Amino acid sequence: MSHPDGPRAALRTLLDGNRRFLSDEARGPNRGLDRIAALAGGQKPWAAILGCADSRVPLEILFDAGFGDIFVVRVAGNVASAEQIGSLEYAVVVLGTPLVMVLGHTGCGAVQAALADDPTPGRIPTLLHHIGAALEPGERDIDAAVAANVRHQLRTLRNDSHAMRTGIEAGTVGLVGAVVDTATGELTVLEASPGVRD
Ligand SMILES: [Zn+2]
Repeated sequence: MSHPDGPRAALRTLLDGNRRFLSDEARGPNRGLDRIAALAGGQKPWAAILGCADSRVPLEILFDAGFGDIFVVRVAGNVASAEQIGSLEYAVVVLGTPLVMVLGHTGCGAVQAALADDPTPGRIPTLLHHIGAALEPGERDIDAAVAANVRHQLRTLRNDSHAMRTGIEAGTVGLVGAVVDTATGELTVLEASPGVRD
């Protein structure tokens, strides 16, 4: 796999990887010991993805990628709270990663729990608070809520991260929101910052 240069090429590479996965043509690139050895001195991932912790959305498999390709941040409900924003900023500012994707998925349990708004134990309310803020009052539709949550986390990233905002304005960073269907592995892009999509 060649190293994509810039936000557009990075998004195209992600979409190509997902297409290979869907058509049973996954190559499992960059997964050997030689690749690990080549990366020992440093990493230069070409995409950073904020995904859900759900076991049904393993990102290297869905995008047919390997070691050193994608910088993965996973947390239930793919919420952009402070630690996640800091992690993505590390990718963008320190590692020079040109593309940031927020990836929701169908049937997300965290979004479902935020919709239900029932009492939850431990620290779960803290997590759900970040999703609840995304939802329209009275929303009942899980697919609409998943999409609204992705859009809300994108807004949070743009609003709370100076580095992200200036990167997008300069065209050096692309920001993309997408949803993956957990029944099929298929990806739908919801929105992208200007110039990122073909
Ligand atoms: Zn989820």
